[in-house]
Amino acid sequence: MKTIDELLADGVSGKRVFVRADLNVPLADGTITDDGRIRAVLPTIKALADAGAKVVVASHLGRPKGAPDPAFSLLPAAERLGELLGAPVAFAQDTVGPAAHDAVDGLQPGQVAVIENLRFNPGETAKDDSERGEFADRLAALADVYVGDGFGAVHRKHASVYDLPARLPHYAGYLIATEVGVLKKLTEDVKRPYVVALGGAKVSDKLAVIDQLLGKADRLLIGGGMAYTFLKAKGYEVGISLLQEDQIPAVTEYLERAEKQGVELVLPVDVVVSREFPDLKTKAPTENTVVDADKIPADQEGLDIGPKTRELYASKLVDAATVFWNGPMGVFEHPDYAEGTKAVAQALVESDGFSVVGGGDSAAAVRTLGFDENAFGHISTGGGASLEYLEGKTLPGLAALED
Ligand code: ADP
Ligand code: MG
Repeated sequence: MKTIDELLADGVSGKRVFVRADLNVPLADGTITDDGRIRAVLPTIKALADAGAKVVVASHLGRPKGAPDPAFSLLPAAERLGELLGAPVAFAQDTVGPAAHDAVDGLQPGQVAVIENLRFNPGETAKDDSERGEFADRLAALADVYVGDGFGAVHRKHASVYDLPARLPHYAGYLIATEVGVLKKLTEDVKRPYVVALGGAKVSDKLAVIDQLLGKADRLLIGGGMAYTFLKAKGYEVGISLLQEDQIPAVTEYLERAEKQGVELVLPVDVVVSREFPDLKTKAPTENTVVDADKIPADQEGLDIGPKTRELYASKLVDAATVFWNGPMGVFEHPDYAEGTKAVAQALVESDGFSVVGGGDSAAAVRTLGFDENAFGHISTGGGASLEYLEGKTLPGLAALED
């Protein structure tokens, strides 16, 4: 994989460089609630601009349906990028149309333009190779060189991630290089004990990674919404908690395999339950109680790990040499159910091991709950991308930068 340093060594002054970034930031009513992904790509954009490139930044945001949709405009992200760069950033209101060409033609060396959400064009995500290829051709017309730095999207076989680099000289940006370096530490010569904490909403999203990790990790701590499918598989009643009934056979097999292979698979021993899901907008106080994991009332749902579990998980993390954490332990967006996620984050901060936080919501949780990012070994910008890497899959966006 050629990196941006080689490109800079060859000289980029006056060249149009297309940077495929991941500016897919969480927005609430048009306001960015966590700009971590924008900050993560700054070193690449700055280095290119400082070297006199004409920088064309592109990204997706959310899941618009292949047509312009103001709710998913990249404009807020472009504005924030300009603030962080401390320089004006041009914004094109289309992706490959006249506005994009005007914006790029108007760039002086060292200046930056952002084009509109790539997913406003159906070609970006098309399953059909030729449809994606056509869109990639039109994107290629905007630039002389391609720099891939949208780590959060490298697991997608999309036009700007996979097809475009084949059409231009291509290099990996600093973020991708860093992220891949970290993931290598989690897969090659892992320092032990290697402890993985998994949470989040759906167990089905994480089954493949659990499957892989059962052969790699020494301990697996399970929390979040997916814990209830595990508890149910153990024969406990889970009330109205999040449950994926169809995943019970797979989960049962994992519990057996963990036992056989001597992997410690740790489940919550107590949980915080409530009769209703909290209001994440108003964050109004809720009624809730702590119960043992085998005593969840039939009319209630588990929304966080309980205090005994927080202590248990912290004790399982304290001596770890390597930690990978993906997925919040509870509905951390509401203060009544953020304590479990805080406890795991705190344990990572206190541990001397190398700790990696992966997952869009987990990374946002760490920052919005007030933790210092620098207290962690690495906070990944990619959720699905890091999981698929750990699953051992070939990631289209990395493969495209290889050759
Ligand atoms: P990540 O983006 O870090 O990979 P996920 O997207 O898998 O994480 O899951 C994050 C979501 O899981 C959060 O919105 C959180 O509210 C939700 N969640 C966590 N615990 C529970 C629970 N017990 N019940 C329902 N949802 C939960
Ligand atoms: Mg998520």
